[in-house]
Parts: sequence; C-alpha cells; structure tokens
Amino acid sequence: MKRLIKLLEVQQTYFIYDIEGVNLYKIDRKLYESLKTNEVSFDEVIPISNNDLVTNAKKHISNIHLNVAQVCNLVCGYCYGIEGEYGLKGKMKEGNALRAIDYLIENSGDEKKLTVVFFGGEPLLNFPLIKTVVDYCVKKEKEISKKIGFEIVTNGTKFDDEINNFLNHFNFEVTISFDGDKETQDKNRPFRGGKGSYDKTLPKIKSFLDSRNGNATARATITNHSKDLLHYRNNLRSMGFRNSFVEVATLSDFSKEKYNLEDTDTLQKKNLIKYDKDELNEFLVNIKERNSLSYFKSTKYAKYINQLITKSKKVDFCGVSRSMRGIAVNGDVYPCHRFVGDNDFKIGNVKNENNNKEKEFDLDFVNTHPQCKGCFAKYYCGGGGCIHNNYIKNGAIDKLDLEHCHRMHNKIKSLFKFYDDLTLEDRKYMVEQLNIEIN
Ligand code: SF4
Ligand code: SF4
Repeated sequence: MKRLIKLLEVQQTYFIYDIEGVNLYKIDRKLYESLKTNEVSFDEVIPISNNDLVTNAKKHISNIHLNVAQVCNLVCGYCYGIEGEYGLKGKMKEGNALRAIDYLIENSGDEKKLTVVFFGGEPLLNFPLIKTVVDYCVKKEKEISKKIGFEIVTNGTKFDDEINNFLNHFNFEVTISFDGDKETQDKNRPFRGGKGSYDKTLPKIKSFLDSRNGNATARATITNHSKDLLHYRNNLRSMGFRNSFVEVATLSDFSKEKYNLEDTDTLQKKNLIKYDKDELNEFLVNIKERNSLSYFKSTKYAKYINQLITKSKKVDFCGVSRSMRGIAVNGDVYPCHRFVGDNDFKIGNVKNENNNKEKEFDLDFVNTHPQCKGCFAKYYCGGGGCIHNNYIKNGAIDKLDLEHCHRMHNKIKSLFKFYDDLTLEDRKYMVEQLNIEIN
C-alpha cells in the first residue's frame, strides 16, 4: 500500500504526519526542508507501518430524529425549517410516532443501544405525545433486550416542573437552542408576534439547569452578523450550562434565499477559525494551570485528542443514511433530520413496508472520495463533511464544502501544535482529567 504522508508547518514547528498510521512525528526545520525538496525520502525517516484501510461497513439504524411537532412558538430568523414547519405544518399523531419506534427497532439489527431524538419545530409543543412514546419505548425495551435512550432539542420556552421532572426521570440528553445575550436572543429568536424571548425563557432555563446540575448542552446559532463568538459561548457557560458551543446557521432549500452564502463563508473563514484557536488556547491554559478540565470533556477537541492519543480513526462524518434517519410529522423517512421535507431524498414512510431502499446511500468518503482519501485530516473529519450542507451549497452531496475542509485542516494543524506544546506531565494530567483510556 502507498504510504500517505503529510508534511506540516504550524507556527515554525514542523511535523510529519503518517495519515493511515495516525502517527505524528515532530522534526526540525532542516529535515522538513530536505523532505520537502526530496533530498531525503520518507522511508529513511519513519518506520514502515502496516495499517490496513479501515472499512466503512454499513451499520444498522440506531438513531431516529422524530419530528413530533413541525410547528414552533418562536419565529427564528435563521430557522432552516422555516418556522419549524418544513413545508408540512402539524403535530405528529400517535400512530405515526409508535410506528416510527417499531421501524427503528425492526431496522436496528444487532445494535444494542438505540436513541430517539425528539425534534421539531418545538417538540415540547407536543409533550403528551413525547410521554406516550417514552412509555411505549420503556415497555418495548423489555421485549427486545436493547436499551433505548432519549434526547431532545428544544428552545426552552416550555420548561415547567412537570416537564423538568419528566426529562430528568428518563435521563434525557437535552440540547437547548439559545443565543446567549438578551440583545441577540431577542433579535434572532422572537416569539410569534415579535416579542423578544429572552426575559421569559431565561428563568425557565435556569430552573431547568438547577434541577439537573447544569447537565445540558447549549447551542448558540451564529449568522453573518455575529462577531465575538467566544462571547456568546461564555454567556451560555455563565448561565450554568455544562457544555455550550456555537454553530453556523444551517442552510436549507427553505432558507437559503435568506442568506448571502459568500458572507456566511467569510464568517466561517474568519470568525470560526479564530473561535477554534481561542478555545484550544483556553484549553491549553487550563491544563498548564492544572484547573479542572470537566468543561472541555464534551468539546470536539477532547474527541480529537482522544483520537490522537489512542490512534483511533473516524470513518463516518455522521450517521446520515447509515445509522440515522429523520422522521417527518407524517411518518415520511429521510436520511437525516435536515433532509426532512425534501422529496428528492425521501426514503419512504414508517407505515410502508416497501421503503425505497435505492434512495439510501452508503457513503465511504475516507476510502473513495478523490479529495478525502488523501486528506491528512480525514480520520478526524470522518470524510465528506455534512452532506446536506454540500448539497445545499454545491448542488450534490459529494461536492465538498471547502470551507468545512479549510476549518477542519486548521483545527487539526492547531491540535498538533497544541499537543507539542504540552510537557509529559501536562499530557498525563490531561489524559487523567479527560478519562482517556490508553490500551
Ligand atoms: S476535511 Fe474535507 S477533504 Fe478532508 S476528509 Fe473532511 S471533507 Fe474530506
Ligand atoms: S448530513 Fe449533516 S445534518 Fe445530516 S446528520 Fe450528517 S452532519 Fe447532521
């Protein structure tokens, strides 16, 4: 097999990265220059490793996003589902919801851990159905000897004691969309009728967080108007969230006319790359000062560090069309939640036994895509990036969003430099704090 090697220079530090072996070697500038000009060959420098290509075997379905309500009480300017409706307004009926659970179970093969993500619109507008579905899953679990976990993505406006107790009792993983400060939240995420949602939602989120020790994730959505991204994240952290992150507003066929793609690209290029660097730098300072790293455990960087240390390879960017499905309010099945409402990608319906299998795609970017297979960051990325994003921006699921690649390459180069900046004692501390298991 041909060895895949990348020579990297990051802030006057030089590396050879053995892509298939996931091995990082620090070298001096002289050797870097010699390798670059082919005066010295790689075979003289790094040992031959015998790493087979990792196969990307088709998985069974283990995760469904259930759109229990394609309606919302907010009218967020950047909503990719256009007010949460995806062109098909309504609340899911019990028949479709329970059939979707059966569909998940029937297609789960030997997967032992299944996940139901309650999604929308605002899923808590259909709380009675959520209770019914959870009840059904708890009964089913006993018959099928599999574990079914629950997640929800909500705007937090409907939290009350009953909902909080229910979500805590059934160990829901909860993601709350909230944009951080009053001005931004009120501008981006108003109620129907135009009134800002910050003052009404903040106390509800706080009491929800108090009820579970901050154990929830906050997502702030950024647009081409957002500037200091760490500021939004810090606001969320100070509210008591254990985990918070910012992400660019998702584009869809419904919403793409509202954005200037070039502006979004500029935003990604400049602000997100700075945000990534700031976050990694913050991580480094906390390691050096021996502070608790619990906050960093759920960051993307913690996952990359785990991969760097354990040499594990990610061969799937996400589970789209493989381990995941998005289920629309009427039971229609899509490759993931973001394709919901796009008929070109409809796989079938949970009530229809003859689902359209040829509409499923089995992706293997890291081994087969011309750009991904030689990309040095492929085993951190998983290959392809978000294919829905590729489709919306470039018209085809395999036409890569080069801004994603650019950001990914920057992240991994910074990761290598970060790792090199740690002493052996620093690394030991980090491994313990992040509970990284080294075999
Ligand atoms: S960063 Fe880009 S080229 Fe590299 S694996 Fe990911 S999608 Fe493919
Ligand atoms: S294709 Fe994009 S939106 Fe769908 S699951 Fe993957 S990353 Fe998420």
